[in-house]
Amino acid sequence: MECLRVKLYTPTGIFKNPLSIKGIEVYPLPPYSTIIGLIYRAMGRKWNGEYFQISIQGDYQAIYRDYVWFKKHNFKDKELGRLPLQVPILYNLWLLVHIKASEELLNEIENGLKEPKELLFLSGGEYPVKVEEVKRVKCFEKNLSEEETVTLNYNAYIPKEFKEKISSSGTGEGVLFSLSYFYKNSQKPKTYSWVDAYYLQKGTEIYGSLILDEDNNPVFLAEPATEEPKKSEGKEYVRFYAGNWLMASACVGVLKVLENAGEDIKKYVEERTLKIPKDLWEKLPELYVDYLLKDKESVRKLLEDSYRQRGNDINPYNTLIYSGLRDFHNNSPFTNQSHEYIKRLKGVYSENLEEVLEKVKESFLEAYRKLLATTKDLSSICFFCHERQAKNYVDATTFTPLFASLETVRNFIWDPIPICKECEFLLYFASAGFYRSAGKYLFVYVPDDLLETYRLNLILSTGKEIEQEKLGKVWSIVKYVLDLEKQKSSWILQNIYFVEIEMVGDATANIYSFHISPNLAKAIRELIDNYPKNLQDIFSEFLFYIYTGRSLYEFLFLLLSGFIRKDSYKNLQGGTIESKIVQAGRNMKYISQNLLFFINFQEVLNMNEQKGYIDRAFWAGRELKKLYKENESTQKKLEPLTYRLLEAIRRKDKEYFIHNLIRAYLEVEKEIPYLFKEALDDKNFSMIAYAFLIGLNSEEKSKEEQANGDGENSESA
Ligand SMILES: [Zn+2]
Repeated sequence: MECLRVKLYTPTGIFKNPLSIKGIEVYPLPPYSTIIGLIYRAMGRKWNGEYFQISIQGDYQAIYRDYVWFKKHNFKDKELGRLPLQVPILYNLWLLVHIKASEELLNEIENGLKEPKELLFLSGGEYPVKVEEVKRVKCFEKNLSEEETVTLNYNAYIPKEFKEKISSSGTGEGVLFSLSYFYKNSQKPKTYSWVDAYYLQKGTEIYGSLILDEDNNPVFLAEPATEEPKKSEGKEYVRFYAGNWLMASACVGVLKVLENAGEDIKKYVEERTLKIPKDLWEKLPELYVDYLLKDKESVRKLLEDSYRQRGNDINPYNTLIYSGLRDFHNNSPFTNQSHEYIKRLKGVYSENLEEVLEKVKESFLEAYRKLLATTKDLSSICFFCHERQAKNYVDATTFTPLFASLETVRNFIWDPIPICKECEFLLYFASAGFYRSAGKYLFVYVPDDLLETYRLNLILSTGKEIEQEKLGKVWSIVKYVLDLEKQKSSWILQNIYFVEIEMVGDATANIYSFHISPNLAKAIRELIDNYPKNLQDIFSEFLFYIYTGRSLYEFLFLLLSGFIRKDSYKNLQGGTIESKIVQAGRNMKYISQNLLFFINFQEVLNMNEQKGYIDRAFWAGRELKKLYKENESTQKKLEPLTYRLLEAIRRKDKEYFIHNLIRAYLEVEKEIPYLFKEALDDKNFSMIAYAFLIGLNSEEKSKEEQANGDGENSESA
C-alpha cells in the first residue's frame, strides 16, 4: 500500500473542534477536520464529497496557557463586553500525517501540498505552517508479537477500531477523544461525522496488528464513518459526552443528584461519557428538584427568613429555586419571572412545609415541560453529544456566563451552536456541579475522567476549609492532583484545571481558569514545606500568585517594600491582595533567610538553574551589612542604599543596580564579589538582586534561633 507522508511544522497552535468554544474544548493534536481543511486549502478548492483515510501524529515542545479575550456585543445597550478565557497553546509543534486515497486524489493532494495555492495555517496559530516533507512512502501491514514492540516517536491519535487490534504498554491506555472528521453535507449548516480516537503519548510501546511505513513509523488510518454510531444502544440510554468543562460540570451536577437519590453512580460513567438509562432519565427532573430541596432544615429557615422580610410578597419558588439557578440560567424557563407557574407562588406560605414544597416542585416540573416545548426546527446534530437531533440554539438562558442572547446580543465568537433537548436540560445541572462560595463559583476539571472530576469536585464542596477561604479548598485539591501525577499522562496533568466564575452583573460574568503546570507541581512538592511560618497570614495570597501565574518577585517586592518603607505605608488600608502583602511586610520585625523560599520557588517555576547563586548572593548581602555596621559613618548609609537597590529592582534596571553596588563596595573599600561579574545577567537579575537585598536587610541569627524564632516573628495585624 502506498501513502502520502507529510511533515508539518508550526510555531504555535490551539486545537479545537469546529464550532467548539475556545478554551472549553482543546486537543493535544489537531482533529482530523483541521488537517483535512488544510489539505483542501492547499489544493485551492472546496471539498466535493470525496473521502480519504488519514493518520495524525505529532509532538510539541511545550504547552503554555494564555488569556484570549472574547467579545460579546450587546446591540441593545451598545456595549462591548469582554470575556477572558484561558487557553492552552502548543508551542513548537511538528506533525506527521499519512494520507491514503485513490491515485488521482493522492496526486492532487501531493501537488497541492508541494505548491500550496494559499498560505497554510493551523487553527489558532498566528504563523503560517511550514510544509517540511511531502513524500510517497510504502506501507506494510505487520503483526508484531510482544517481543517486537514498536515505540511511538510521536504522540498519536489511534482510532478506536484500530486500538482494539493493538496492545500498548508504558503510559497507560490513552485518552479517548471524539474528533470531527469529514463533513456529512456540504450545505449550511454544516454537520460533521465524528471519529472516536485514543490519544497515546510518545514513548508508548505498541504491538499487535499494525501498519508501518518504510521508515518504521506506525500509521493509524481513520476509517470514514459509514453508519450512524450508537444507534442500537441509544434506545436504552441517554448519553452525554463530558468533553469540555461546561458539559463536565453539568454531568457532575447530575451525578450529585443521582447520588442524593441513592443511586450507585459508578454504573453510569464510562471514561468521559455519562449514560443514563431511559427510565431514570424520565425521573431526573423530579430528582433534581428533590436535590435542590433536600436539606429540610435550611429550606425551612430560608422560608422563615424570607417571610419575615417580605411577608405576603414571599415567593417560595424564588427563595428556593430561582436563587440557586439565576446566575447560570438567567431568563430561562426555570427563572423567568413572567411565567405563570412562578408568579402563582407569590404569597404562598404555610406552617406546613411539605405543602409548600409540593407546590414548588410542581412549578419546577412545569418549567421543565416549558423547556421541552420550546423548540426550533433545525436540521443539525447537537454540538454537545454529536448524536441527537438539535432542537434549539445555545443562548444566554442555557448558560449565562458564557453565552449571549441571540436576540439582543450578537456574538462575534462563535456561530449559533445547535443543541438537543437532552443536552439543553443537562446544562441546567451545571448549577449543582459548581461549588458556590462568596459569590463565586468554582469547578475542577479532569479532561479524561468524569468520575475523577466528580470526586475532586466533591472534595471541593465537602472538604474541610483549611483557612476558611476558597483557596484553602483549592489547596486540598492541589495535593490530590499531585498524587494523580504518577497515573496520568502529562497532557492530562497539564490540563487539569480550575474554572472560576465570578458574576459581575445579572448576565455578565468573568470566567477565569488556572491549572497546575508540571513545574508548579514540582515546586510545590519540593519546596512547600519551607514556606515561611511567620507569613501564614498571607498564604492565600501566595497561592493566588502561583495559581494565576503571577511572578513571586512581584510578591517579594511588595513584601520588602512593606518592611523597608514601613513609614510610608503606615496609613495603608484596604483588603486588596497587594495591600495585604505590604501589610505583612510591615508586620515583620526582622527579615531572615527564610524569605529565600520565594526566590527558590520562582526559579523552580522558571526552570532556571540556580547553581547556588541564591545563597551566595544572600551571604554577600549579609557580609556587606556587617561591614557597613562596623563604623558609624557607613551605618547611616545602609538605609539609603537599600532604597536605591529596591528602586533598581523595581525598575528592573540592572545598570543602576550595579552602579549602586560598585559605590557600596567602594564605601567599605572592598572589591565587588566575583558572583556579580559571573552571574548577574538578565536571566539571573531578579534572583540575585532579591537574594542580595534580603541578605543586606536580614538579622544575624543562629540557625537554632531561626528555627525557634520564626513563629514569633510576626505581630498580629
Ligand atoms: Zn445533545
